[in-house]
Amino acid sequence: MEQDIPPPPPHVLIFPIPALGHVNSMLKLAELLSVAGLRITFLNSEYNHDRLTRHADVCSRYTHRFPGFQFKTITDGLPMDHPRVGHKFDEVLHSVKSVTPPLLKQMLIDDIKPPVDCIISDGFMSFAVDVANELGIPIIYFRTISACAFWAYFCVRDIIDAGELPIKGKEDMDRLIKNVPGMETFLRCRDLPSFCRAEDPLDRNIQLFMSETRSSPRAQGLILNTFDDLEGPILSLIRTHCPNIYTIGPLQAHLKTRVPSGMQSTNGFWEVDRSCMAWLDKQPPKTVIYVSYGSITMLSREDVMELWHGLVDSNKRFLWVVRPDLISDRDGDQSQIPEKLVVGTKERGYMVGWAPQEEVLEHQAVSGFLTHSGWNSTLESVVAGQPMICWPFFADQQVNSRFVGQVWKLGLDMKDHVYDRKVVEKTVNDLMVEKREEFVESTDRMSKLAWKSVSDGGSSSCNLDRLIEDIRSMSV
Ligand code: UDP
Repeated sequence: MEQDIPPPPPHVLIFPIPALGHVNSMLKLAELLSVAGLRITFLNSEYNHDRLTRHADVCSRYTHRFPGFQFKTITDGLPMDHPRVGHKFDEVLHSVKSVTPPLLKQMLIDDIKPPVDCIISDGFMSFAVDVANELGIPIIYFRTISACAFWAYFCVRDIIDAGELPIKGKEDMDRLIKNVPGMETFLRCRDLPSFCRAEDPLDRNIQLFMSETRSSPRAQGLILNTFDDLEGPILSLIRTHCPNIYTIGPLQAHLKTRVPSGMQSTNGFWEVDRSCMAWLDKQPPKTVIYVSYGSITMLSREDVMELWHGLVDSNKRFLWVVRPDLISDRDGDQSQIPEKLVVGTKERGYMVGWAPQEEVLEHQAVSGFLTHSGWNSTLESVVAGQPMICWPFFADQQVNSRFVGQVWKLGLDMKDHVYDRKVVEKTVNDLMVEKREEFVESTDRMSKLAWKSVSDGGSSSCNLDRLIEDIRSMSV
C-alpha cells in the first residue's frame, strides 16, 4: 500500500537590510520559523556575513541545528573598507537600493533552490516587492522598528503637506506636530525621526524613509517586532493602511518560550566579552547601570569623556560597552579606549567592547540602562523590566525615546541634552535613586505584559502561529 508522503516544508527567503539591529531581529524570526519546521534561506550582505562568521559562530549555529537552513550572500554595493557606521550608514541604504534589484531577481531565478514559496524582506526595501511581483512570489514585510516610529515615518508626507516641516531652528523644536494621528498631544518637532531635521523637506533621506514606509501596503502582510499591549492604539491606526499585521514581539522573549533553553541566538558582529558577567556577579543586587549605544552609533571623544566623568561622579557602579568603533574622532592608534578611562574606571566601573546585552539586562545586579533608544535595546529593556535613560541619536530613536519617557513612563528622555558631566551625573542619580519610584511600577507591569504576549494564547504567540499557517498556505 502506498504511503502518503508529507509535502516538503515551505521555503522562505529572509532578507534584512545590512544593519546589525535588522540582521539580529531577522535571524530571530528565522529561528522561530525554523523551529516550526520551515525551510529558511537567509540572505546577508557579503560584508555582514564576513563579520558574522569572523567574530561569532552565528552561522553554523543555525545550519547545524536546522537541516533546511542556508545562508546566501549579496553585495551591498560598497567597498569592504567602507566604515558603514555613524552618518556614513545612510550610504549603505542608498547603495543597497540602487544595486540590489537585478541581483536579487537573478538569485531567485538561478541560485536559490528549491524555489522560494515566500519572501520576508526588510520593509525598507520596496524593490523586493517589485521583484517578488515580477516572479509571482508572495512577499511579507518585516519592519524592525517600533510601531510608533513606523507610524511617524508613514505620516511624514502629511506633515510636509500640512506645512509642519521644515523645523525652523532650535526655538521651534518644542512645537507640537498635529498631523501624526494618535500623537497630537505629545509629539514635538524634536521627537520626529531625525531625518525630519533637514532644512529641505525634499532631502534625499526624508524621501527615502518616507517612500519606503509608504510602500508597506504593497506587501501581503507586515510583521512587527512589538506587542499589542505596548503599542495597541498606534497599531490600530497602522491597520487602516496595512490591514494584515503580525505583531510577534518581543522576539527575544518569544525565542525563549519556543526554543529549549541555552539555544538562543547571539547578537553580534563583535566577539562577546563575557568577563562582564563575572564582574556583575560580584556586584550587590540592583546597583549597576548598564551603558550601551548599540551597533552603529558613534560619539565624539569629548562626549565620551564627559559621559565617563558623569558616570564616575555619580558614584554608581556602571558597565559600559565601548565598541572598538564607538569614538568618531579618534586618530592614530587611539582607536582604543582612552587610557584615562580604563585606569580611572577600575573601582566602580567595568568596560567591554561588546556585551551579552540581553543577559546583562536580566542580571540581578543591573537596575538601569543608559541607551541610544535603538528599538532592539528598548524592547530588551522592556522585557527585563529595566528603566531607561534615553539619549537618542538618529532615525527612529527620537520617537522611541519620546514614547519611553512620555507615554509608557519607562524612563527619562534626554534627547538634545548635551553630554555635560553634571547632567550625566544628575540623570544617573535620578534614574537609580531620586526618581526611581516613578518607573518601577510601569517597568514591572510592562515586562509582565511582554512575557504574557509570547506565552501560550498571548497576542504575539497567536500572531506567530497565524504567520506560520499563512506561509504554509502559500506553498500549496
Ligand atoms: N548588543 C549586544 N551587545 C552590546 C551592544 C548591543 O548584544 O554590547 C545588541 C543589543 O542586544 C541589540 C543590538 O545589539 O539587540 C542593537 O540593536 P538596536 O536596535 O538597539 O540598535 P542599533 O544597533 O540598530 O542602533
